[in-house]
Amino acid sequence: MLPQEIIRKKRDGYALTAGEISGFIEGLGSGAVSETQVAAFCMAVFFRDMTWDERVALTRAMMNSGTVLDWSDLPGPAIDKHSTGGVGDKVSLILGPMIAACGGFVPMISGRGLGHTGGTLDKFDSIPGYQTQPGLDLFRKVVREAGCAIIGQTADLAPADKRIYAVRDISATVESISLITASILSKKLAAGLGALIMDVKFGSGAFMSTLEDAVSLAGSLGRVANGAGLPTTALITDMNEVLGRTAGNALEMLESVQMLATGKGDQRLRDITVELSAEALVLGGVHKDNEAARADCLASLTDGRAAERFARMVCGLGGPADFMEKPEKYLAAAPVVREIQSVESGFVTRIDTRAVGVAVIELGGGRRNTGDAIDHSVGFAGVAGIGEAVGPGGRPLAVVHAASEAAADAAAASIRAAFAVGAEPAARGPLVARRLSAEEALAL
Ligand code: URA
Repeated sequence: MLPQEIIRKKRDGYALTAGEISGFIEGLGSGAVSETQVAAFCMAVFFRDMTWDERVALTRAMMNSGTVLDWSDLPGPAIDKHSTGGVGDKVSLILGPMIAACGGFVPMISGRGLGHTGGTLDKFDSIPGYQTQPGLDLFRKVVREAGCAIIGQTADLAPADKRIYAVRDISATVESISLITASILSKKLAAGLGALIMDVKFGSGAFMSTLEDAVSLAGSLGRVANGAGLPTTALITDMNEVLGRTAGNALEMLESVQMLATGKGDQRLRDITVELSAEALVLGGVHKDNEAARADCLASLTDGRAAERFARMVCGLGGPADFMEKPEKYLAAAPVVREIQSVESGFVTRIDTRAVGVAVIELGGGRRNTGDAIDHSVGFAGVAGIGEAVGPGGRPLAVVHAASEAAADAAAASIRAAFAVGAEPAARGPLVARRLSAEEALAL
C-alpha cells in the first residue's frame, strides 16, 4: 500500500495490519517513505492511537529495521532494566554489576540525559578512558567476562527509531504512549534480551508526574513487551525526590562506587536497586523467588562480588584498572564546594525534583543543546530527602559542587526555591507504588 494510503487509514481511525505497519517502516529504510510522511503518520497515531496488536507490530517492525543481537551462547540469561528517567537515578550503575554477580548477564544499552533527567552514559563518560561506543566484539567480550557492559546506542540497532524519534521531536508527537512504547521497546528487543524489568517513574522528577499516567505507560510497555515475546515486569516507583544523595555525573558515579564497595549508603537507593535486580533475577530464571534473589543481591554488595564485576567492566571497556579502589583520583572535582542552608528550620515537606535536575544542567552538568560538552564535576551531594530536618546551622538542603562562585550562588537560589520546608515532618510515599507482572500485563 502507498504510504499516504496507510497514513489516511490511520488518520480515519482504522487499525492497520502488521503488514501495513512493517511496509511503512521498511519504506523508511529504503527511502520510499519521506520524513513528511513520518510526521503525518506520527500525528495520526497521536490522535487515533493504536491497538495492542498495532503497537506490537510497530515495535517489531522498528526492531527489525537493524541488527538484532543474539546472546544465546552465554551461560546465563541476558537481562536488562530500563528506567523512564529521573534525577539522581544511578540505579543502572549498581544494578548491572549486582545482577552479574548473581549469575545474570547485562548487555545494557543506555542513553544520554534527556530533558531534566540525567543519562547513564554521561555518568560513565566521567571515567577517563571508558569507551561508551565499543565495537560489537568488545561489547560481547566484556558482557561475557564481566557479566555486564553498559554502553551507548549503536547506529545499527533499531535505526528506524532514531529517524522517527528525530521527527517526533520537531513535530509535537513525542508524548504518544504508543510511540514511546515502540521507541523504548524496539531498542530493547533489538538488544536480544531474555528478560526486561521496567522502572516506570512518577512524581515531581519524572516525565509522568501522576501515578495514573505512569500506570498507563507501564501497562503499555508491559503488554507490548510481553506480547512481542520479551518477558517483562514493571515496577512503578517514586521520583518525588532525588534518588540517593547526589545529582551530577561524577558525584553520582562516586556514590555508586561507594555503595558497590561497602554496601553502605542511601537506603532508598539500595532498596530500589535490590528490588529491581531481584525482579530481574527471578524473571530471568536465576533465582526461584524474590526473597532468595534479594538476599543474594544484598550479599553481593557486602562480599565484594558486585564491586569486582564493576571493576572488570570498567577495565574491560578501557577505564583505569584501579578505579574501584581510587575513584577520587580519576573523577573530576569542582573548584567550588559549599553547603546550601535552608533559610528556615523545619522538615522537608516537598521537593520540585525536576527543578533540581534543571539546576544540574544550569551548573553545566547537562546539555542545553544537543552536542554540548558536559562538566562532569558539577552537581549536588548530600541532598536532603522528604521528612528530614533541615535549618540554619543544621543539616543543609544540599552541598553544591560548581565551576565558579557565581554558578554556586545561582544553584543555591534554585535549590532553596525547589525545597518546601514546614513545621511538621511529612511522610514519604512508598518507594515501589505498584508492580505489574508479565501475566497481569498480558491480561490488559
Ligand atoms: N525514551 C525513548 O527511547 N523513546 C521515547 O520515546 C521516550 C523515552
